[in-house]
Amino acid sequence: MSLQSILPGTSASGQQTTLGVMGGGQLGRMFVHAAQTMGYFTAVLDPDSASPAGLVSHFHIQTDYLDEQGLAQMMQRCAAITTEFENVPAPALRTLGAQRVVAPGADAVAIAQDRAQEKAHFVRCGVPCAPYAVIETAAQLRAVRDALLPGILKTARLGYDGKGQIRVNTRAELTSAWAQLKSVPCVLEQMLPLASECSVIVARGADGTVVNFPPQLNLHRDGILAVTQVFEGNLPPAFAQKAIDAAVSIATGLDYVGVLCVEFFILQTGSTAAKELGALVVNEIAPRPHNSGHYTLNACDQSQFDLQVRTLAHLPLVQPRQHSPAIMLNLLGDLWFRDGDQPITPPWSEVLALPGATLHLYGKLEARMGRKMGHLNITGAQVAQVRATALRAAELLGIAPF
Ligand code: ADP
Ligand code: MG
Repeated sequence: MSLQSILPGTSASGQQTTLGVMGGGQLGRMFVHAAQTMGYFTAVLDPDSASPAGLVSHFHIQTDYLDEQGLAQMMQRCAAITTEFENVPAPALRTLGAQRVVAPGADAVAIAQDRAQEKAHFVRCGVPCAPYAVIETAAQLRAVRDALLPGILKTARLGYDGKGQIRVNTRAELTSAWAQLKSVPCVLEQMLPLASECSVIVARGADGTVVNFPPQLNLHRDGILAVTQVFEGNLPPAFAQKAIDAAVSIATGLDYVGVLCVEFFILQTGSTAAKELGALVVNEIAPRPHNSGHYTLNACDQSQFDLQVRTLAHLPLVQPRQHSPAIMLNLLGDLWFRDGDQPITPPWSEVLALPGATLHLYGKLEARMGRKMGHLNITGAQVAQVRATALRAAELLGIAPF
């Protein structure tokens, strides 16, 4: 594919340069906002008539991801196409990629969509991950080493936000868990003693240039990201550089083009696992911007979505700079149901009265428990002040302290 930049504006034939995104969720919405800021037209393919990205895009192609007519319309409209939804079928990206710039490419996305392939890639890159076994057959189930228990059985495909995972202590539990997951291909991972979790977002251009955001300290609750904190000293410096190096080597090893998030575990100091694996262990990758990178919208000179646009359109990639310490609070649908079954509007006015707070809501028409409705970014000049404000915002919203 030519590396010529795809610039915003009107072509000789009178068409506006249009960037497309497969998937219409909140990540697609923020991509659309970033692309439009730079003067591009946008197209979203998503079957849902009320998808967050579809609602704000110039064009919304409302078909299934594999629909031939939908894909043909995307190719007709768009100069380049990206993806925001991890489970956009790789064959759809392959079809688009035959005629248009597509980033990330189908092969990299296919690896990220399959935990077994993903882990094999980590091993290839020499980045430590949890000891694991692939379970696709009853014989593989029986052959599992004792050392992998207690463990977590995860479906190889289609898991997210802790879904498609079962914790198992014994072989009997493992057997029934696999049956409960309908005996689909799975990965069993050793349960590791976590001290904390972090992630690194990199953007890699088609010419191989890689830039990165600083490592993000992430707190998960019930398998869903709850809080991300990013400031100098959030992680011990030795981990920070190691995590960045690992993320770069994972992206480069995939010949990745686009924005990639790599999630890590930091293991408890002195634990056997930390002695065997090292204290920093890669968990998984997401072939797209990530929830833990939403603070970049307010705390950095380029957001993760700006970099997604740049990598897609072959524009210059410049190392982004974080100008303010930041904390992001995820706003789940639960916040709407603090008073019972009838949804109430969270106290936005009180929250917006706090200095340095920016509210991002995704335009979802209905709040549901566990649904990602938006996020709140808090920035400021000093870490202590950002933390105090974030804790106050959490208190107002009914989010547990952290
Ligand atoms: P998802 O795709 O749902 O995000 P993850 O594999 O990231 O799935 O698992 C969700 C969360 O479960 C992780 O963020 C971590 O808190 C916990 N977890 C996952 N794997 C392990 C493990 N091997 N050891 C300990 N905790 C784990
Ligand atoms: Mg995860």
